[in-house]
Amino acid sequence: MILIAAYFCVTAIAVGQVKPYSDSSARKNLRILLRAGGNPVALTPIPKKPRKPQKPEPKGSVYDGWRFIGFPPEVRADLDKALLWLKAEAPVHYKMATRQVRSFTWRGGIKQGSYAYPSTGHIIMGNRDYSHSKDRHYFTMVLIHEIQHCNTPGHEYEAAACYAGWYYGNKLKLRSFFTSWSKGLALKRGYSSAKWQGNLSKTIRMNAGASN
Ligand SMILES: [Zn+2]
Repeated sequence: MILIAAYFCVTAIAVGQVKPYSDSSARKNLRILLRAGGNPVALTPIPKKPRKPQKPEPKGSVYDGWRFIGFPPEVRADLDKALLWLKAEAPVHYKMATRQVRSFTWRGGIKQGSYAYPSTGHIIMGNRDYSHSKDRHYFTMVLIHEIQHCNTPGHEYEAAACYAGWYYGNKLKLRSFFTSWSKGLALKRGYSSAKWQGNLSKTIRMNAGASN
């Protein structure tokens, strides 16, 4: 379990590798989520600005408002695949990401984990999560998890991000070995399907433009 657990911040914390920032921390902007090992990366926050109305995207391409930084071509191709997979099977989560996520940045260190900066919509995707399984199911679940961390109109905290990995991961039919484990982490932190319904309602309202 420790071998697998080390890939998630919650359990990595339990084995003493990572010191989390607290939810109430004034450094919310630099909160490190879902990472183990390495140092926090200082990023220049991108100020949020009103989004222009979204036009329909060409089929087979990802939202053109995201910035992609530092990805090798093969990793970028897999990330695009994962995003298109989300777009097809979990459109609510994908649409939320088009509103809440500004950029995806690659970190190629072999032990580099993934994490998110919720208030600015930056997501770091790490090589450790990319290399975890060849079918990229784990990488895709981590992507779902980090996107949920940017759902500040809904629930962006850790338990909800773990629950998202299960909920949307099931829609994508990701390996249940990963998704069930992620749900277990959410429940352990007191999350529930009732709470998730609350998150979903807020997300759907936000997607419709009600609170954007
Ligand atoms: Zn997390």
